Amino acid sequence: MSEESRSLNFIEQIIEDGIKSGKNAGRVGTRFPPEPNGYLHIGHAKSICLNFGLAQKYGGTFNLRFDDTNPSKEETEYVDSIIEDVRWLGGDFGDRLFFASGYFQQMYDWAEEMIRKGKAYVCELSPDEIRETRGTPTVAGKDSPYRNRSPEENLALFRRMKAGEFPEGTKTLRAKIDMASPNFNLRDPIMYRIIKAPHHRTGDKWCIYPMYDWAHGLEDSIEQITHSICTLEFEDHRPLYDWYLQQLDGIFIPHQYEFARLNLTYTVMSKRKLLELVKGGYVNGWSDPRMPTICGLRRRGYTAESIRLFCKRIGVAKFYSTIDVVQLENAARDDLNKTAQRRMAVLRPLKVTIENYPDGKTEEFEAVNNPENVADGTRMVTFSKTVYIEQTDFMLDPPKKYYRLSPGREVRLRYAYYITCKEVITDASGNVTGLICTYDPESRGGTSPDGRKVQGTIHWVSADKAIEAEVRLYDRLFNKENPDDPQDTKDYKEYLNPESLEVLKGCKLEQSLKEATPATPIQFERIGYFRIDSVDSKPENIVFNRTVSLKDSWAK
Ligand code: ATP
Ligand code: MG
Repeated sequence: MSEESRSLNFIEQIIEDGIKSGKNAGRVGTRFPPEPNGYLHIGHAKSICLNFGLAQKYGGTFNLRFDDTNPSKEETEYVDSIIEDVRWLGGDFGDRLFFASGYFQQMYDWAEEMIRKGKAYVCELSPDEIRETRGTPTVAGKDSPYRNRSPEENLALFRRMKAGEFPEGTKTLRAKIDMASPNFNLRDPIMYRIIKAPHHRTGDKWCIYPMYDWAHGLEDSIEQITHSICTLEFEDHRPLYDWYLQQLDGIFIPHQYEFARLNLTYTVMSKRKLLELVKGGYVNGWSDPRMPTICGLRRRGYTAESIRLFCKRIGVAKFYSTIDVVQLENAARDDLNKTAQRRMAVLRPLKVTIENYPDGKTEEFEAVNNPENVADGTRMVTFSKTVYIEQTDFMLDPPKKYYRLSPGREVRLRYAYYITCKEVITDASGNVTGLICTYDPESRGGTSPDGRKVQGTIHWVSADKAIEAEVRLYDRLFNKENPDDPQDTKDYKEYLNPESLEVLKGCKLEQSLKEATPATPIQFERIGYFRIDSVDSKPENIVFNRTVSLKDSWAK
């Protein structure tokens, strides 16, 4: 089955059933509602692809809405990065950019409506007391002593809360639902609390802030969201989501649907932990190429297309699962295989002198840019008397099936000539520091002069023309499959992989790579996919990041 012809996911099924039954006159409105308290990660990408994809598929609308209801953890830096990442992923929200803080007045007016209807009250229990009187799954909670205040008294107190007359923690507005409900979320949940911190958009206009459950459905209603899609942890909140909306007169009623959040092996995804890795200096910022953040993946060389492909392949379901990170890497390989320009690069150079090649002579050979796409054309690579090959392409004493270079053995230098190893140069401690080879002038272009076959073809770079670069090889950030296993008593940071970054200096690249930019995906032939580092690469110190190796090196 092609990837396009897969059957509908459960949310598409709900939408199509709704269209048939005429719900919302067939209209579809979705949103992606991040809280601006961190950078987006690959889990958020799943949500963006889902929400945007549904709007696109059903001719609906897609909103980007910042759920900025908690001033203490939020920053504009996060807002800017989130906008950039959503756009980059292809989540086209057009001019449909919204902020929950833009609805604070409307939410406040609805809170007053709740009070007037006797559905909400100002409570003076401390946060601890509220927790203590909440009850247990088997024991009902205790009614607050403030539960039966009159609407007039509640209204007056709530207005004074808004006016900043009370210190933090002294009063809350609570919904009056049912302290004996089997669903904890319905045991008189808090709607507003006092926070005396400036907000990144509303400044110090407000000192009472709405709680997520109260705010979210109202935001969805205001924006006429038909399918409010969130992760499974919110399933138990849905009765509250519905209850709030049902109390208010004449508003649009959205519906909440839950799907399983993305979990990836060898990765942590909680924003709190990612922040801790950044703040603690365990990684070099949010865009460190080892991070599962969108900006980290982008810097590492992942394309938006590869992330969308990954999201499409993993699908959308209602049960928890953990996806093997290899699936993400494979999506990158599959996309980059089609788009990356092939180049030759030697990461750990070994100098080869071709003794019978004339001094000072150079030749140009035509090399294919991308065998997967002829339209990408060809380029010229320069050959000369001294070239570099990979140290791993030579062995002094090779095992039987080793087809690369060794004393007396002949190999093909891709696009150039057959060479034979005549002499090995070693240093005082016996390390191989160079090779003396001969070439067969009849094998020009790497073709056999007389039908004789060589088993190995290796890549190379001309010493005259090579450009030098630093190459950063990344491995998994954690060396445990599930670093934040709740059963584990050890801290997830104990499982940070000390070998997650290897920096190679003095790598030799073919000259055409001088023109590479962070926008160009490159395949170093036989090695992997690479990308210029958008932050650290400078003309005087070119830095490449490895996106992924050619094959999954962890596979058995
Ligand atoms: P927090 O712990 O701060 O609530 P969060 O990851 O839920 O973190 P939000 O900014 O609230 O962050 O998330 C925005 C949207 O992305 C929500 O709709 C949420 O359901 C979705 N989302 C978050 N993490 C994942 C994930 N791992 N997989 C799929 N969707 C996710
Ligand atoms: Mg959240």
